[in-house]
Amino acid sequence: MFTQELPRIRNWINGQFVDLAASPLSSEPMQYLPVTSPHNAKIIGHVPLSSAADVAEAVAAAKEAFPAWSGRTMKDRAGILIRFHALMTKHADALSDMVVLEHGKNKAEALASVSRGQDLVEYAMSLPHVSRTKILEVSRGITCYDSHVPLGVVSSIVPFNFPLMVPLWTLSVAIVMGNTMVLKPSEKVPYTMTKVVELLKEAGLPDGVVNLVNGTVEAVNALIDHPDVKAVTFAGTSQIAEIIAQRCHRLNKRVLALGGAKNYTVSAPDCDIEMTSTDVVESYSGCSGESCMAPSVLLTIGHQQDLIDKIVSKSAAIRPGSLDGQMGPVIDQVSLDTITRRISEAEDSGARILVDGRRWTKERQEGYWVGPTVILHTNKQDALLHEELFGPVLSILKVDTAEEAIALENANPYGNGAGIYTSSGATADFFIRRFNAGMCGINVGSPVPREPFSFGGWNKSRFGNHCDITGDGGVEFFSMRKKVTTKWAPQENASWMS
Ligand code: NAD
Repeated sequence: MFTQELPRIRNWINGQFVDLAASPLSSEPMQYLPVTSPHNAKIIGHVPLSSAADVAEAVAAAKEAFPAWSGRTMKDRAGILIRFHALMTKHADALSDMVVLEHGKNKAEALASVSRGQDLVEYAMSLPHVSRTKILEVSRGITCYDSHVPLGVVSSIVPFNFPLMVPLWTLSVAIVMGNTMVLKPSEKVPYTMTKVVELLKEAGLPDGVVNLVNGTVEAVNALIDHPDVKAVTFAGTSQIAEIIAQRCHRLNKRVLALGGAKNYTVSAPDCDIEMTSTDVVESYSGCSGESCMAPSVLLTIGHQQDLIDKIVSKSAAIRPGSLDGQMGPVIDQVSLDTITRRISEAEDSGARILVDGRRWTKERQEGYWVGPTVILHTNKQDALLHEELFGPVLSILKVDTAEEAIALENANPYGNGAGIYTSSGATADFFIRRFNAGMCGINVGSPVPREPFSFGGWNKSRFGNHCDITGDGGVEFFSMRKKVTTKWAPQENASWMS
């Protein structure tokens, strides 16, 4: 049943790989799902579908590990991440190979995702040095201070698009803050995290501090509903993010659920055409467009034929493959079918396909391939200008004024990213003040904030508590503030002092 080359995917509970509990509680008749490589659609393994009993086992391990782990100093906890960081460097090649295999990124993108994961670990391991506890004499002789207290067992439910980096958004800060964690990887990319937990153990992480449960809906619901799970983070589609947040709200449980995106980029007439075209193409097609920060709509102010020509020629020059500069496949058949169908629908409704990625689908017999696609729209109502597609597709629309561009961006229900390309500071300022999005860029295609800044969108791109997921937003989410007010009796007259 399982391939010889890859290890069998199992849950990781209390520092070891374990099989599914033979659970009478399971309502899922099928206990495994096939995992396919997007490159050729071949089955590379089977992911176990955990039941509530499996989740309970993982939560119990995390709960048991919590007192000792939270009782250690933050510096001590961070020290383990310092060793983990070094192991990530040592194993970057193997980790990125797994990302290439199961996700489909090219090797350079996969290596970059490991390096970005290390940035997240670096922030978490420096937390002892940037501790933000406040202390103030609030009244004569009375002092207040606050401290960040860990929550207990926390959970993280992650999407498929960054198999290593997105789990590290939450895991790194959560554990340095003293929490223990149960993480559910995406069932589409379960391999990479099995290597990560082994490296964490090698770095000295005590058993039970980080646990993995594989699966889908049943595992997620069991995690949310478990009374010992004190907080839930999620990243995925907005539809599921909203469901997750509502379920947590009903239980009065802390939740941060990041959703999907439709990111608008505006090119002003004074933009640098070479830089803008290169950035936009790399950002919409990078990682096969499977990034929640990919700019999938370009609004040109006025008709910018030179810019469009360069975007078309740079997009058309991209080749399929796994090498630097090439573009990999999308994640699965469902995604491929959706993307190609939506391109055809746009064409049928009158949009012009300037670069047609569907030719890759026809040319390649195996795997989930669709090439970079550039679509020129004339109708503001076209679905691709408003709905997330999550593939390598750029929709271009000409608008006449800056106000029209802002009106379109503001009407978009999402609010992850937005960007402006211009040579003018005043123009950039005009847009940045008006964009209705949490992460904005000036002459940057994919404006992902780097630590110590936090990652997080607005509107339909985020549900739940109004924290961000990385940086100081993550510190806030993964801790409770204990506020302490102190007063001491004057000691001047104490007999022992004279
Ligand atoms: P998804 O919503 O299908 O799955 C995300 C996670 O939820 C997976 O672990 C999956 O097993 C689980 N899940 C799926 N259906 C569920 C259900 N009905 N109930 C409970 N859990 C369920 O998302 P995906 O396809 O893996 O990832 C792509 C999406 O993630 C895109 O929309 C992308 O924009 C978004 N994303 C957002 C961010 C962000 O920070 N805003 C980051 C990465 C990805």
